[in-house]
Amino acid sequence: MFSDMRSHEVQELHFFNQGDLHAVIALHNLKLGPALGGCRFIEYDSEGGAITDAMRLAKGMSYKAALARVPQGGGKAVIIKPKGAFDRKALFKQFGQCVEAMSGRYITAMDSGTTVEDMDLIRSQTPYVSSSSNIGDPSPSTAKGVLLGIKAAVQFHLKTDLKDVRVVIQGLGHVGMDLAQQLHEHGALLTVCDIDKGKTKVAQQKWGAAVVSVNDVYDVPCDVFSPCGLGGAINRETINRIQCSIVAGCANNQLQTEDMGEALFQKGILYAPDYVINSGGLIFASSRFRDMNVPSIDLEISKLKDTLNQIFVLSKNKSQPTHQIANTMAEHILYEGGHSLIMEAV
Ligand code: NAD
Repeated sequence: MFSDMRSHEVQELHFFNQGDLHAVIALHNLKLGPALGGCRFIEYDSEGGAITDAMRLAKGMSYKAALARVPQGGGKAVIIKPKGAFDRKALFKQFGQCVEAMSGRYITAMDSGTTVEDMDLIRSQTPYVSSSSNIGDPSPSTAKGVLLGIKAAVQFHLKTDLKDVRVVIQGLGHVGMDLAQQLHEHGALLTVCDIDKGKTKVAQQKWGAAVVSVNDVYDVPCDVFSPCGLGGAINRETINRIQCSIVAGCANNQLQTEDMGEALFQKGILYAPDYVINSGGLIFASSRFRDMNVPSIDLEISKLKDTLNQIFVLSKNKSQPTHQIANTMAEHILYEGGHSLIMEAV
């Protein structure tokens, strides 16, 4: 267990085992502040898989918070979803007591499998929750940040604005649909896909989007490929199919393996690192938790385009893939001199 923690650089693991509740909270790094990260509630094949997931995701949150310049550390909770019948309300209230027992060192939020209602139940037991109904949905803020990131990438790589730029959006969920609308308003030409045909129909009718099947989406020539569904969109198979100049979307873990970042770079495709471009939601959650007002939050979100620009410039100057530049910047903030020395660090 300790060697696993070392390999993920996780500082603390907390286990909770009460009736139907089997949960783990991983705290990766608290240098920048209390850990903030979602609570995942899905079925796992093994307990080890759930623990590894919590550690991997907690590390990702540290890196995201560092580059988003929010005063939060990286943490994540995983509740193993019971296979049989269970009392959901009781389970999330119980989890709220676990979060409370962490005394504010971990702030929880929505993630795969959890809902606003679950967050409200947690909130009945602890104040350390950031996506309850009184705080609101972070997705519009994520979409706002992704739009800014796409604009920055298009300006940097194609030297143009969004007018008539061809964008393929894979996944029209909470973020993807909002993003589609904003891209349309900026004059972009959309192609969309989703496993839910009702959603693609909305985009077709409202914004004249072309619709492709989930299997054919990788073969569409475009300027920007925007993964907004599940992770792993850029993998050994799809890397040889995508025909774009830029990859920029909201999905987490877009590169199935690290070497896919190198492969994109070798092909001359500009990749906007996922945890930087999709950090608007974290900025919203952290800022709302600290009672910041909406204009101040928007200002914070707008700064992510500066971070991306910095990454793009350094990538070009150093002939190094963007995901490596982003990781080096985050590691410097987490383990060395802090934000002010970023430029010297990479
Ligand atoms: P969501 O569940 O609302 O939307 C995902 C969409 O993708 C759904 O419409 C689903 O039908 C579709 N989809 C699933 N499989 C697909 C496939 N194979 N091809 C095409 N479409 C497919 O999720 P969301 O909140 O919009 O988040 C999307 C992604 O962005 C996730 O990876 C999430 O982790 C990440 N993310 C979200 C936020 C946020 O604020 N919501 C913040 C950061 C990162």
